[in-house]
Amino acid sequence: MDYTAQASRLDGLDSLAHLRERFALPGGEDGIYLIGNSLGPLPFAAREIVDQEMDKWAEMGVHGHFSGERPWVSLPESMRDPMAALVGALPHEVALMNSLTVNLHLLLISFYQPTPDRFKILVEDHAFPSDHFVVESQIALRGFDPETALVRVAPAGGETLSSADIIEAIAACGDELSLVLLPGIQYYTGQVLPMAEIAAAAHAAGAKVGFDLAHAAGNIELSLHDWDADFAAWCTYKYLNGGPGSVGGIFIHERYATDTSLHRLAGWWGHELSTRFEMDNTFVPPPTADGWMVSTPATFSTATLVGSLEIFVEAGGMAALRAKTEQLLVFCDQMLDDLVGDKIARITPRELEQRGSQISLEVGGGRGKEVFESMEAAGIYCDWRYPNVIRVAFSPLYNSFSDVERFVSKLAEIVA
Ligand SMILES: *Cc1c(COP(=O)(O)O)cnc(C)c1O
Repeated sequence: MDYTAQASRLDGLDSLAHLRERFALPGGEDGIYLIGNSLGPLPFAAREIVDQEMDKWAEMGVHGHFSGERPWVSLPESMRDPMAALVGALPHEVALMNSLTVNLHLLLISFYQPTPDRFKILVEDHAFPSDHFVVESQIALRGFDPETALVRVAPAGGETLSSADIIEAIAACGDELSLVLLPGIQYYTGQVLPMAEIAAAAHAAGAKVGFDLAHAAGNIELSLHDWDADFAAWCTYKYLNGGPGSVGGIFIHERYATDTSLHRLAGWWGHELSTRFEMDNTFVPPPTADGWMVSTPATFSTATLVGSLEIFVEAGGMAALRAKTEQLLVFCDQMLDDLVGDKIARITPRELEQRGSQISLEVGGGRGKEVFESMEAAGIYCDWRYPNVIRVAFSPLYNSFSDVERFVSKLAEIVA
């Protein structure tokens, strides 16, 4: 099979191929950037917008908050619609603020309300450390014991969780379950979890449900509102290409977003805008997710995202991007099956509905680090997780079929 020719034919047919030009791709022409699951590359538009806002700061100083093409005070607001569309939310269910871990804490203050009878939080075994620490510390903060209140669900067999594993774990907690906090996509295996099913099971048990979408936002199609999640949070520097430390996103289902009496950690940025600067000490949050904002947004780490989201809109949204992702995955699978075979195991599920852009490869014989280093030396940006997993992600925004071809060919060469 001539995969080089097949890749260029597929690139020729790719209606999103031109978007690659919008990004600064590390490594130049020879580089292959497959690590957008960790930090997306710079969209040139992000740099332009930050430069413009820097100039505005130089020229207008404090007036920049309310003047110019993009008043800083409404910068997060200006991205509400495209952000909501990307996660399948109503616009008033979404806010941009802080960063992911901080937002998980703020959301747990509202959505984890333990009582002596109902106090357990269900997470996955080997959750991303930050998520684990959030939950553990929130449990202790409320005077409960993580030993009994923190419940972990592990795969009954194999590497990935089945729906049954999760549903059974929820059922086993019974009336003691207060909250389910799971990822939309598991960061290590790349598995997509069945979010609608999880939400239904959690609610049936009388618990709340929240999702960490760090690896899902900007990667797969999401329908947070229809799936009936209570809340969700994500970072924007992975698949959403907002840059290191860029502003985080939150979703709060309408039924809570509009409930201004809900318990929260308040700050003046969560006070409704029209009277915020009257400096009255009565807290009045708007009936939207913005009522969870706390302090002045980090303007430059928010402005970068404006430039990035424009490209998602231009691409036609997640449905169009997902269609290309699936083509990239199918092509990659075909090449891996043919050229690498079982020399390298794939821990990401095979079924397309159970995966996003990431493929996690398990290298046998303790050669994981070595294979990773050879990849890096060849200009292929990927990621190695102790002890032997290499993760790559193909972004439909800037990765080509030729990138896939060169990646798998190199991998086959290294493990041969
Ligand atoms: C990337 C990631 C984080 C990072 O959190 P920050 O607060 O942005 O540093 C947290 N949780 C998960 C699951 C992640 O994938």
